Amino acid sequence: MRLSILGAPGSGKSTQARRISEVCNLAHIYPGELLRLEAQSDSPLARRIREYLEAGQLVPSDIVFHLVEREITRSFDRFVLDGFPRTMTQVLELEFLLRKRNAKLDALIVLEVSRNEIMHRLLARGRPDDTPDIIERRIDVFHRETDPVIQFYRQESILLMVDGEGTPDVVTYRILSALGIEPVSRTAYIQQTKGNKRIPP
Ligand code: AMP
Repeated sequence: MRLSILGAPGSGKSTQARRISEVCNLAHIYPGELLRLEAQSDSPLARRIREYLEAGQLVPSDIVFHLVEREITRSFDRFVLDGFPRTMTQVLELEFLLRKRNAKLDALIVLEVSRNEIMHRLLARGRPDDTPDIIERRIDVFHRETDPVIQFYRQESILLMVDGEGTPDVVTYRILSALGIEPVSRTAYIQQTKGNKRIPP
């Protein structure tokens, strides 16, 4: 199964991508985290990445795709992309990579959360790029760059719009339902995550 999860900052996409990767046994490919790791060193590339992250701007696609391609190639049949593709350039890069091997995405999940709820959640999270100005910028960037991606996959008929408001368990349940994963595994999964401290709330 090849999935992608998108959503505005604070939509809970990474929490959900991690959960779906565990219940469906998929590699979790998370460019936001790969970029933050890459930005920690002292190289010119790291400094360049930091500038974009700190400004709430998207990192140029060549840098991102280089990181993501390596991970996709490693787990070609079983992955969930977390925040990729976020631009039409990235759609073309991903589609080219998949079509070369006669593969395609099975579903693009989009988590829908209101702007108010996003602000509330992100200010509570407190990551360095979670200040009100940068959050506003990231939401605007999301609509400008990522709305066309959503339209593209709507036309491909693999789009699953999911209500992202509610507890993480409820949202996981909605995603699994939308994917058509049967209720027995959903219940087992929610019980399993209750005692699992590794999954963030
Ligand atoms: P996230 O953790 O997904 O909210 O991503 C945090 C930041 O990483 C974003 O604000 C961007 O600066 C960068 N980033 C994550 N994914 C991408 C992507 N697909 N393309 C470009 N930049 C990205």
